[in-house]
Amino acid sequence: MNHQKTIILNSEFDTQTLAQALADEFKLLSGSIWLSGDLGAGKTTFTRYLLQALGHTGAVKSPTYTLVEPYLIGGKPVYHCDLYRLNDPEELDFIGFFDYFNEPNSLMIIEWASRAKSILPKADVLIEIKKLDNDVRQVTMICE
Ligand code: ADP
Ligand code: MG
Repeated sequence: MNHQKTIILNSEFDTQTLAQALADEFKLLSGSIWLSGDLGAGKTTFTRYLLQALGHTGAVKSPTYTLVEPYLIGGKPVYHCDLYRLNDPEELDFIGFFDYFNEPNSLMIIEWASRAKSILPKADVLIEIKKLDNDVRQVTMICE
């Protein structure tokens, strides 16, 4: 069933709390989460807290230049992707991007999926982050 929920996060701590609350559910998800929102909305920040809540302990680099940063968390392959700098969706074929989706149990977390919307498998969860004020964010989550 398709459901949607909008919440207000008043601080980065609230963002961390949301990531922790969702981690148990996303641990079981094999598929993709799309994160949308302007530059600086908090997509990478949310992902960093999510990866930590899933059990990742090292650094979380923004994949802005590499397009993809891979993680293996408790045996689960997790790929953090940022397609902002993608020039042509076809480039994804060259880097073997679609193989990641086919790995058993893999979770794709994709910033700027809109850049390759025409060729990506559809999202299982959509998270839209909107900056309302300095530390305040509006988050809309849609489960397909
Ligand atoms: P994006 O990946 O969407 O371009 P980033 O996560 O890189 O955005 O940057 C978001 C910035 O906003 C960070 O500097 C972060 O510390 C700050 N920030 C302030 N409040 C929040 C919040 N409630 N949630 C997420 N990030 C926040
Ligand atoms: Mg980012």
